[in-house]
Amino acid sequence: MNHPGIISTITISSFPHGSKFQDSTIFLQVHRVVNIPRGIFQSMLSPLGWFVGFLTWFLVLFFIGLFSDLLVVRDHSGGENGSIPDEAFDYLRERPSFIPEDAFLLDTHSHTLASDGRMTPEQNIKWHIANGFNAFVVSDHNTGKNNEPSMILQEKYPSILIIPGYEWTTPRIHMNFIGILDFPYPVPRKASDKDIKQAIDRAQDLGAIIQCDHVSWTVSQDVYQSRNLVHPTRQELIEWGVDGFEINNSMQWYDGRTVHVMDFLEQNGLLEKPVFLSTGTDIHDPRNSFVTGWTELLLTPGERENASIDIVKQALREGRTKVWLDHDYHPSHEAQYREGTGGRVLLKPFRRLGNKIYSSPPRETAAWVTCLILLYFPAMALFHLLFVFF
Ligand SMILES: [Zn+2]
Ligand SMILES: [Zn+2]
Repeated sequence: MNHPGIISTITISSFPHGSKFQDSTIFLQVHRVVNIPRGIFQSMLSPLGWFVGFLTWFLVLFFIGLFSDLLVVRDHSGGENGSIPDEAFDYLRERPSFIPEDAFLLDTHSHTLASDGRMTPEQNIKWHIANGFNAFVVSDHNTGKNNEPSMILQEKYPSILIIPGYEWTTPRIHMNFIGILDFPYPVPRKASDKDIKQAIDRAQDLGAIIQCDHVSWTVSQDVYQSRNLVHPTRQELIEWGVDGFEINNSMQWYDGRTVHVMDFLEQNGLLEKPVFLSTGTDIHDPRNSFVTGWTELLLTPGERENASIDIVKQALREGRTKVWLDHDYHPSHEAQYREGTGGRVLLKPFRRLGNKIYSSPPRETAAWVTCLILLYFPAMALFHLLFVFF
């Protein structure tokens, strides 16, 4: 049973003197077991041992990172099954009393399992119905994968207008291309002015309405700030073809500056075309979110009667929107279906660390990675201290 280098040789002299268990086979077994880690540690003192240990440490870090990324950040389960039960969406939230009863309410922004959302296409539809919308846009990050599966369900849910879309996502700017099934072009990681203009041109050629998303959120992100990115100005974006701006995003991002800039441009005759202002729930996980903004589309009775994707696009193009906001707290109905303390929760710190490393400038990323690798030495020393007392 002796494996030189792994399990240290057990000799009678290594037993404590006078131990009453000296001859006991139980003590022999325990001693043998606790000697395994010690043996491993000793074997690591050899150059090859250090190298193997180092490699193992690196692989462990890599796999923790990979798994937390796969499990927590991206759940690309193909849009078939979300982890939220369907019955979570069987409710109807009353519209706030300040919104006119006959208002036609649009949500310009939502996510499904095709990107980092937590709902299936059908759950996304049911969530929007439960929250009193008349129409909504599916806008996954850089994919139109769940547009078709959503559109197929239009017949089943006639009470709501389902609009396909695409969120063109780069660290410098997010834009929603509203009313297109897909955007079959690569999205650059570093978007130059030229890239943005080209994307807008291409989306317009496909027939999309272009909405600039959540400026205040984008510029507050670590990844944006650490890379010294500069968001195109509102005026530039309008010149390049943007039709409107999302001024309220999810529960917390309100962009008063855009409203101020639009007022200024309009009052000074600097707007050559109508520009709409809108709200996006940007719904990802309804268990953590609730609606704080509604975009009322100002439709004629005839348009309302025959509401279609084309009619919504036309109203947006003509700037016929009114924004309603309610920043009071409303507990999410789906919160009761929140996951318990599972693996996801345990992996959250790793995900946070991963995001931090990803969004840091290159030199800082290198420093993070170096620190993690060097952590191997104190970790091994700790193990040694733990076992050296046995
Ligand atoms: Zn976005
Ligand atoms: Zn989004």
